[in-house]
Amino acid sequence: MLPEILLAATVPDFLRQPLEAAYQVCELANPSENVRAIVPLGGTQLSTAQLAAFPKLEIISVMGVGYDGVPVAWCKERGIRVTNTPDVLTDDVADIAVALVLMTSRRLVESNRFLHASQWIGGAFRLAHALHGKVAGILGLGRIGKAIAQRLEAHGMKIAYHGRSPQNVPWSYFDDLKALAAASDFLIIACPGGPETLGLVNADVLAALGPKGTLINIARGSVVDEKALITALEAGTIRNAGLDVFEDEPRVPASLLACERAVLLPHVGSATHETRRAMAQLVIDNLAAHFAGRELLTPVV
Ligand code: NAP
Repeated sequence: MLPEILLAATVPDFLRQPLEAAYQVCELANPSENVRAIVPLGGTQLSTAQLAAFPKLEIISVMGVGYDGVPVAWCKERGIRVTNTPDVLTDDVADIAVALVLMTSRRLVESNRFLHASQWIGGAFRLAHALHGKVAGILGLGRIGKAIAQRLEAHGMKIAYHGRSPQNVPWSYFDDLKALAAASDFLIIACPGGPETLGLVNADVLAALGPKGTLINIARGSVVDEKALITALEAGTIRNAGLDVFEDEPRVPASLLACERAVLLPHVGSATHETRRAMAQLVIDNLAAHFAGRELLTPVV
């Protein structure tokens, strides 16, 4: 009898097919109570009430590095293992952060729109802002945060960061997020989502970032008070924002969609063929290790 696995989200065929070949696979619409493993995506929310319906659950293998949708402490108490897919997506996500920095600073979206609208013939596009010499303040200097820092240093930017503690890196540490925002031209969010960071970037932090400041978020929408962000963008109390993630994805507030100061991407940080396949392989390998009684490759708990 093959172990039963629940797909808690729509997963790509290159994950679904190998799982269907190795396990008995069911979906949220018709779950089996004999499920021993669950496969969610990074953004999938799983409540303890939902999970309690699976008394035989042994492992949750998240296809994503962020596991803020999984009640990890509850799982740990019950001996349910949790895995994620770190490292393999770091470069792609850092590239998207840099792309958002360039798109906002150099007004690339606006200038593209300007030319498509045949406005060039009427005069040159307005000037934008240089990156070199500017300060990139990184909230959450982990795997992705460091990869962003290295890339932006190559663009001539100065790097500062905030996290719960200083690290052995050559960049300036701020123990206070508001102070980091005040010192930054770009505040770049790269910390995990979840209750600990909920609304961390609030109206006060945005006010500290100021009218010459840009907010970049490639982490989780929950880290930002989205209403306060929209207010700041509409009032011009920050210059602009580059966002890959939102509070209630894939629903994005109409006021944000209409906002000229915001560059918006549909959560594409890790969305390349190469990286998504590597993430899928890690899910497959973690599950195979678990059911063979071997050590997990990338355990969270
Ligand atoms: P990571 O290596 O665990 O780094 C997270 C960093 O955040 C750590 O350095 C940690 O530093 C800091 N941090 C944790 N809690 C914090 C808090 N309360 N306040 C301030 N800083 C805090 O994770 P990663 O691999 O870089 O991934 C980061 C996040 O990116 C993921 O959790 C995920 O949500 C997001 N992500 C988004 C996409 C996308 O498609 N847009 C793709 C992948 C990942 P300290 O321990 O020193 O505080």
